[in-house]
This record gives sequence, structure tokens and C-alpha cells, in this order.
Amino acid sequence: MSVKVTREEALDYHRSPNPGKVAIATTTKLETQRDLSLAYSPGVAHPCEEIKKEPELAYEYTAKRNLVAVISNGTAVLGLGDIGALASKPVMEGKAVLFKKFAAVDSFDIEIDETDIDKFCQVVKAIAPTFGGINLEDIKAPECFEIEKRLIEELNIPVMHDDQHGTAIITTAALMNATEMMGKKVEELKVVVVGAGASAIACSTMYKELGVKNLIMCDSKGVIHKGRTDLNKYKKDFMIDEALSMEEAFTNADMVLGLSRPGTFTKEHIALMSEEPIVFTLANPTPELFPEDVKAVKPKAIVGTGRSDFPNQVNNVLGFPFIFRGALDVQTRKINMTMKMAAAKAIANLAKEPLTDELKKEFGDLSFGREYIIPIPFDKRLMVEVSSAVANAAVETKVARVKEFDLQAYREKLAL
Ligand code: NAP
Ligand code: MG
Repeated sequence: MSVKVTREEALDYHRSPNPGKVAIATTTKLETQRDLSLAYSPGVAHPCEEIKKEPELAYEYTAKRNLVAVISNGTAVLGLGDIGALASKPVMEGKAVLFKKFAAVDSFDIEIDETDIDKFCQVVKAIAPTFGGINLEDIKAPECFEIEKRLIEELNIPVMHDDQHGTAIITTAALMNATEMMGKKVEELKVVVVGAGASAIACSTMYKELGVKNLIMCDSKGVIHKGRTDLNKYKKDFMIDEALSMEEAFTNADMVLGLSRPGTFTKEHIALMSEEPIVFTLANPTPELFPEDVKAVKPKAIVGTGRSDFPNQVNNVLGFPFIFRGALDVQTRKINMTMKMAAAKAIANLAKEPLTDELKKEFGDLSFGREYIIPIPFDKRLMVEVSSAVANAAVETKVARVKEFDLQAYREKLAL
């Protein structure tokens, strides 16, 4: 599964055949004078008038219904840090490619040169009418929490910061499957989260929603507890009473989720955990600890990383294309926790299905077990399973605009 690419190969890929990775395609015919009159003036005035009278008709007469904005200010790009709006563009274009290839979702990448929360939100709100959904991307913590919260409250289209919730959904799927494999209940688990940034806070919020009771979060200063005076309000939600050391936190823990940087915990920490722990070392590209080091002290551990060259890759592409596919198709106003949980369950369940022949050819005969607890991004069944679960949850929680929804018919349409 491991594929290495050189710097020169990557630069060539971005240079040719045309600079960048995306272009616009038209969907209607424009060959005659009549077509011109329909597509533009005077014909175009009619849908304008209709939408002016009834704004929801934008979903019928414009590309809004299949269009997502991928928006960044470039303050936390990959592991590169704050490289600014312009330099983030290759990543945002890449996201547009994934949206299109995996789930036929159209998107514009929008890089906004603004780090002030108020001004950034103003810009996003001002351009929101164009879109059916907004994928916030690579915006640094803690600003990303406030930005996402405000936009969710103030806009009537779904807004999701993928670095937070994409990661949360996929690791929740993994947590569900691993817990089942261990023969434990989520409520009984002791979970240590190393990292207290964008992704760690979102994952921990979702784990609590799933039923995890015993969760200890650590940041660069150690365990987050009530005695600390340096915590932002997002970290404060996860304070525990006792001032534990990292070693005490790891003792008999069933899971560690690393969303920090290389080397923040060691073999010695893993050795303190339960016999069959789940160990996710997701710092990218170099994990907190490599899988072989985890296995050296806990041979039965279920290990996941963010990389494609080890089993159980936590790759956000398992989630966001299909989450937005489902959200757009029922014209939802929000992506709520029920929808996120439905996506996680759909991802978890798919890992229990046998691999298709097509996947077996490329990835070997994987079956549900320690080395395979989450599906492979190229599993085409993700579209049907995840998008339909998300759309159905949106309808059930009454955030969808569509009035008529037939789950079976929608699944059949997605499978085409
Ligand atoms: P972030 O917002 O910058 O958060 C990083 C966190 O790590 C901060 O809370 C920081 O603590 C903490 N940290 C730093 N040194 C530490 C130490 N020695 N012990 C404990 N915690 C420490 O970053 P993020 O966006 O959440 O991403 C974190 C990492 O996860 C990155 O490497 C990213 O690439 C990776 N990631 C992977 C996936 C995936 O595999 N699918 C998804 C998302 C993120 P302070 O708060 O004290 O500064
Ligand atoms: Mg990202």
C-alpha cells in the first residue's frame, strides 16, 4: 500500500497538463443564438425573479445544490503550520478534487487572507449564498472553534470544519469497532487523548457523546485538570479533578488517541496500558510513536496511524465527501451530531463487510480484525452507506429541506 513520491514528481503533477488541479465544466448546451438567450440575457432573468420571490428555488435553478466552498485562511496547513492563504491553495484544490472524484460534489476552493475572527466570518457569510455547504479547512485552534460555531449559528447551510469533525467521525468508527473486538463497552473504557487542539477537542466531544465516561486529555503542559490556570474554554470542558501525571493517565488505559506531534508518548507509556489497547498515533506525517514500537510492548494492540503505509489509516477522505454528498442531497441546514454519529456507524459497519473482489486485487484479502477496523478510502460502497446514513439522519432530525425522502430509492440512486 505504501507509495513514495518525490518532490519533483509532486511539483510536475501540479504544473501539468495545466497549472493547478481543477477547472470549471459547463453542464448546459450553448451552441445557438437561442441557447445564448436562455443561458444569459434575457432568459436568465426568469430564474433570477423566481429566486427573488422564493429563495429556496436557488436549489432548483442554480448549481448551489451541488456546490461546496472549501475555505481556509492558511493558518494550520497540513503539518506545515501558518503558511498563509495563498500557499494553502494546493491543499484546498486537492480537497476539491477529492470531493469531485469520490462523491461527485462540485466545489470552489477559497483562500481568504484574514486571520481576525470577526472579519473572517463576515467574508464567509457574505459569500455563503453561492453554496449548498461550507467545508472549513486548515484553520488553527482555538480560532477554528469560534469561527465554526458562529457560522453554524448564522448560516442556513451546513458548515463543517473537517480537521475537527472528519477526524472525530472516523476515529469514532474505529473506536466502536475496536471496543466490540475487545468485548468491552464504551462506558467502561479509559481513554487518554494526547493533544488538545482542533482535532483532539472534536474527537473527545464525540467520544463523550458516544458514551465514553473516563477520558483524560493532555496538552503540551501535561494532563488537563482543575488545578490548572492556563486553560482555554475548550480545554476546560475536559478538566479532570485530580492532577495526574501522564504515567498515571496511561496506567490501565484502554485507548490512547495521539493528535499532537512526534514523540509525545513512548513505549514506556504504552507498556502501562491494558493488554489489548487501541493506540492511534495520528500526528502526520510522523506519528507520535511508530506501530512497531507499540507492538513491541503490546503485541495485541489495535494500532492506527494517519499514513497509508500502515494498517488502519485514519484518512478523512473516508468521511467528508460522503457527508457533504448526503447533506447536499437533502438540502440540509446543519450537520448535527446525529448525522455525524450516523456517518461513524456507517463507516464502522462497512469494515465488517467482506472486501469486494476489486478491492481484494489491490489490497489483499483483508477481513475485519486488528489490522482492518476501518474501511479503505477506495471502497466504493462508502458513498451509498455513509451518504445515505447522513441524509437519513438529517431528515429524521428535521434539518433537511427536502419534504419527500425515500431512503431505499436514494440508496439505489447513489449506487448507480
Ligand atoms: P493543533 O490544533 O495544533 O493541536 C496540537 C495539540 O498538540 C495542541 O493541543 C498541543 O498542546 C498538543 N501538544 C504539543 N506537544 C505536546 C506534548 N508534548 N504532549 C501533549 N500534547 C502536546 O493540531 P491538530 O490540527 O489538532 O493536529 C494535531 C496532529 O494530528 C497533527 O500532526 C495533524 O497532522 C494530525 N492529524 C491527523 C489526522 C488524521 O490522521 N486523519 C487528522 C487530524 C489531525 P498545546 O495546546 O498545549 O499547545
Ligand atoms: Mg486539513
